[in-house]
Amino acid sequence: MSELSQQTLVLTPEQAYEAAGKYRVVRRSVDARQRQLKVNLTLLLDDKGHPLPKDAPIPLYTPPVWQDVHNAPRHVHIIGAGPAGLFAALTCIEHGIKPIIYERGKPVSERKIDIAQLNRNVALNAESNYCFGEGGAGTFSDGKLFSRSKKRGNMQRVMELFHYFGAPDTVLYEAHAHIGSDKLPGIIRAMRECIIEHGGEIHFETCVDSLSPFNFHLSPLILAIGHSAHDTYRMLLDEGVALQQKGFAMGVRVEHPQSLINNLMYHLTGAADLIRYLGNASYSLVTQVEGRGVYSFCMCPGGHMVPATSSSDACVVNGMSASHRNSPYANSGIVVQINPEDIPLICQHEVINTQSPTAKLTNSEALAGLRLQEYVEHLAFEHGGAPAIAPAQRLADFVRGKRSANLPACSYLPGTRSSALHEWMPPFIADRLRQGFRDFDRKYPGFLTNDALILATESRSSSAVRIPRDPETLQSISHPNLYPCGEGAGYAGGITSSALDGINAALRIAAQS
Ligand SMILES: Cc1cc2nc3c(=O)[nH]c(=O)nc-3n(C[C@H](O)[C@H](O)[C@H](O)COP(=O)(O)OP(=O)(O)OC[C@H]3O[C@@H](n4cnc5c(N)ncnc54)[C@H](O)[C@@H]3O)c2cc1C
Repeated sequence: MSELSQQTLVLTPEQAYEAAGKYRVVRRSVDARQRQLKVNLTLLLDDKGHPLPKDAPIPLYTPPVWQDVHNAPRHVHIIGAGPAGLFAALTCIEHGIKPIIYERGKPVSERKIDIAQLNRNVALNAESNYCFGEGGAGTFSDGKLFSRSKKRGNMQRVMELFHYFGAPDTVLYEAHAHIGSDKLPGIIRAMRECIIEHGGEIHFETCVDSLSPFNFHLSPLILAIGHSAHDTYRMLLDEGVALQQKGFAMGVRVEHPQSLINNLMYHLTGAADLIRYLGNASYSLVTQVEGRGVYSFCMCPGGHMVPATSSSDACVVNGMSASHRNSPYANSGIVVQINPEDIPLICQHEVINTQSPTAKLTNSEALAGLRLQEYVEHLAFEHGGAPAIAPAQRLADFVRGKRSANLPACSYLPGTRSSALHEWMPPFIADRLRQGFRDFDRKYPGFLTNDALILATESRSSSAVRIPRDPETLQSISHPNLYPCGEGAGYAGGITSSALDGINAALRIAAQS
């Protein structure tokens, strides 16, 4: 950061809106704990102590220096072009190392067409969908860039790179910045063009189904596969790569009318004004039920619920928003924490080993959580009726244990089918969800309503597998020179932390002489 000083002001939303239109902001966060919402706005001051005007250059921004790696003596292979793989590749280029990326999915513009087909419930392309393809799982998302944990490394650098490739200025200062699914594809395309222009390679529609072609004793291999490539985890296990079970979470996605959430979060009076200054309201909810966390995840104000499956016999939902977050709906995952020791208990109840269609594939302990995910996703598929049709229930009906006679309109394009989720979801999850919704309603009376809808299943909020690595070298504990990183390695969750993990892996490689 430069020598320029900063000043943090506590303002009303209206004052903050006006100040942000005039001055260079370093950080903005909304304090919604009080009935009267406040905005903390940190401004940059010039050497005379006056706020810098908005159009002054961004002093904290160091543009990247790209190297020509066409004929670079060193190269790195990268599996996966999600945030972890792309940011690893960009960091390699900054350090004069040639990245060669293999991505099972398609370039972002072709991927859009497959996603449109899925949303119309015409067809699922198992290799090109919301999870797989250029930009990874984060491309068609809300693009929330939340994690600012300093412990993981230089988070500001991730924001700067997003900004460099076209994200708005807000990503440099907003505490809860987001980009939006309409802007992300262009940013991802710009990253690819930069990688190729400087001598890197990207091979699309290339699914790596064995590690044997890679001689990673000669050149390092970065494994940035995300957490949805279950076939790739199975391949890694078969080829002797160390894998471990990891705690994860599962539940449903809930959708309310956005106006209802605005009223609850902005305390009814003045909601219309606050929307103008702060945008549609979001929420973050957490409670404990019988020793396990129940919490909101990936809340998308003004967003859409989307089909996030990559398999034709599974129903998985998630959420996204465009940059303006202006749909009439507010959706969020509401998930229950599942620890490794819970899995035998849940499986015992469900007799998973005899019922799960995937159980026969492996009995590995390391993949037990993954099999449980698949089991519940398959149940949801059976109750939905087609890969993208989601089983759904009105929220208050779910909590009261009543099938919904009809369903309200919602943002989920492929379609919904009324289903008694409380009857078929594993009770470990369903019972905690029901109590969790009651707790949320105590905090925000009106949250638990039949105007809200829940869809199953929200099962990919975090990885159920870890690919353990040495904390110093970041190399696999079983395979030297193999760098598991990002969400699929179990060391990150979300776009920013996965991107940062990719940067860290590349930096370790660059530091090797
Ligand atoms: C709909 C949706 C909305 C989301 N919204 C947000 C949000 O707003 N904010 C947020 O922080 N996070 C969000 N997430 C989560 C976020 O996208 C992930 O945490 C993040 O993308 C993980 O990055 P990654 O690079 O580790 O893995 P991924 O993004 O999953 O990328 C992995 C890539 O590897 C490829 N791959 C896998 N196996 C192979 C193989 N064998 N060979 C070749 N290629 C392979 C895949 O095709 C994929 O493109 C969302 C996710 C979804 C699905």
